[in-house]
Amino acid sequence: MKMTYFKNRVSLYNLSGVAILMLLIFISIYSTVSWSVNYDINQDLERELHIHQGEISARNGVLSMVPEGEWEEPEHITVFMNPVFVEIYDANKKLVEKSPNLKDDTLFLEEHSSKGTHIDTFIDSIPVRQVQTPLTYMDKTVGYAVVAMSIESETRVLDNLKFNLFLTYPIALIILFFLTRFIAAHSIRPALEIIETTKNITDGHFDDRIPLPKRNDELYQLAVTINELLNRIENAITREKQFTSDASHELRTPLAILKGTLEVLIRKPRDTTEYIEKIKYCINEVNRINNLVDQLLMLARFENYNKVSAFQEVALDEILQEAVERYSEKIKDKNLKVLFNVSRHYYIETDPSMLSIVIENVLSNAIKYSVPSGTVAIEIDVSQDGKLACSIADTGIGIDENEIDKIYDQFYRADAAEHSSIKGTGLGLSIVKKISNLLGILISIDSNKGTGTKVVLTFSKM
Ligand code: ADP
Repeated sequence: MKMTYFKNRVSLYNLSGVAILMLLIFISIYSTVSWSVNYDINQDLERELHIHQGEISARNGVLSMVPEGEWEEPEHITVFMNPVFVEIYDANKKLVEKSPNLKDDTLFLEEHSSKGTHIDTFIDSIPVRQVQTPLTYMDKTVGYAVVAMSIESETRVLDNLKFNLFLTYPIALIILFFLTRFIAAHSIRPALEIIETTKNITDGHFDDRIPLPKRNDELYQLAVTINELLNRIENAITREKQFTSDASHELRTPLAILKGTLEVLIRKPRDTTEYIEKIKYCINEVNRINNLVDQLLMLARFENYNKVSAFQEVALDEILQEAVERYSEKIKDKNLKVLFNVSRHYYIETDPSMLSIVIENVLSNAIKYSVPSGTVAIEIDVSQDGKLACSIADTGIGIDENEIDKIYDQFYRADAAEHSSIKGTGLGLSIVKKISNLLGILISIDSNKGTGTKVVLTFSKM
């Protein structure tokens, strides 16, 4: 996929937003200035018209529309200093008077124009705005006045403003683009460092970690999260390596014993009893390997499970009963007393074959680690929050307090040397833990060294 640069994308997004905003601001500035400039000049024109209307008088029956000395006022003489151009027409729209600053130029009386219409035109190449009004005396139209004022400075101000805004707009946007690009590139630098370090780590340096940025921001959180992920990956890799080495060790030991025993056996002829004894010993070792391979396969099977689909209603007491029956020979061999009395069925939603594996492992441990003639008590209870709990308690060798957390680890055997005569692989409880997580069963182990162990399984689905 084509690589796009974050800094360019950020700059472009930012630029589009700012471009629209600036355009709106510039339009608003221009409109406001233009409106107020035009408003002022229109007001001045209105005022001038009003003056001319008020100057109409009649003496001896003769109308006078321009008082004496009016044209001597400076604004009517000059064309440079705020000039005011005036033309007075009689009722027949014939020009009767005009201000001296008009010289040979004329304004014009619009035939159909209503009062107050503004017309922009030129007098002697000076831009002017003119407006006209009928002059009335005693409610009769006696003439017309046309007034014009220079709008040269206002036009210049507006033209300058327009030019400046047009020029500033693209320049500001170009500067902004490069500025944002620079800032974005600067801000993204820690992320690039994270990418570089992560690349290096994924190339095999799993013990490397991303250096944390100085500031506690999103990138800091990202680095922390990636480091946590790396910790988990490193642990998983270490666990996998440990598992492979433990598994090969566990398989090699009985194979070496087998090989050694058989080699000794064929060195010279032996009597039948010795053969039988050695072959029985070898069969035991083969059984151990068999058992180990079964458990390894089971672990591998459940490793890839992440959802159980075969949930169905099963009677927990029946599964427990079947497990007790399956181990009845071992129970008899050790002369154990099994206390298991239930007066009714307890139903749960679960996968029955997986639940059987859990219960058989826990029960087989209770039997295996029980002292001869001990007791195994099985109980089913409904807890206060309505959950079903099943406990399997033995009066066996117990587990040291410091080891309880480790007994779920693969191949871990607590006090293995102390009870070397009790055969095991150290895989049973890791299988139990894995399946329990899948079935939503909570396991808790309460144990006292030398007194006994109680395993409680609490079921979430009843
Ligand atoms: P193993 O094949 O060794 O029994 P597990 O995973 O089933 O493997 O158990 C791990 C370790 O936990 C055992 O080696 C044992 O030391 C300890 N353990 C488990 N259950 C009991 C129990 N009921 N009584 C005493 N120790 C137990």
